[in-house]
Amino acid sequence: MNSDRKSFNPYYSRLETTKLEISDDVWKKALSPELFEVSRHGATEAAFTGRYWDYEGNGTYYCAACGNALFRSDAKFASTCGWPSFFETVRPGSVTYRKDNSFGMERTEVLCGRCGSHLGHLFDDGPPPTGKRYCMNSVSLEFEPDKAGKN
Ligand code: FE
Repeated sequence: MNSDRKSFNPYYSRLETTKLEISDDVWKKALSPELFEVSRHGATEAAFTGRYWDYEGNGTYYCAACGNALFRSDAKFASTCGWPSFFETVRPGSVTYRKDNSFGMERTEVLCGRCGSHLGHLFDDGPPPTGKRYCMNSVSLEFEPDKAGKN
C-alpha cells in the first residue's frame, strides 16, 4: 500500500465522488512532500523511478490524494516511457482535462475528477482500442489488488 498519504487525510474516500475544494495549505498536511509536489504543483517524477511503471498486478488504481477510482489494470499497457500508462479511465468523469502549454509543448493535462490533483498527461500515441496514452505519475496512484475469487 502506498505510503504517500499521511495519517491526516480526512478527505480520502474510495466511495465518495463529490468534488473536493481543498486549499494547498490543507493538502500539504495530508500528503507526502513528493505527492504534494506532483498533485498540487504539477511536478513530474523521474522516468523509470516510480513504483508502478512496469507493475502488472490485477486490480484498481485510485487517486493517492483522495481515493477516487481512476484506472483498471486491464487498461494498463507496457509502455517504454517509464511512467505507468493506461489507454482508458475506469469511468467517464473519473478524470478531467486541461490544456497545458508549459515547457513550450502543447499537452493535455490530466487531473483527478474528484480532488483536482494533477495526475499526468494524455497523449494520442496509445494502443487500440482508444489510441490514448494516459501517462501517469506513480506517486499519484494507489493500487489495490482484486480480491481472490473475483474476476
Ligand atoms: Fe483525487
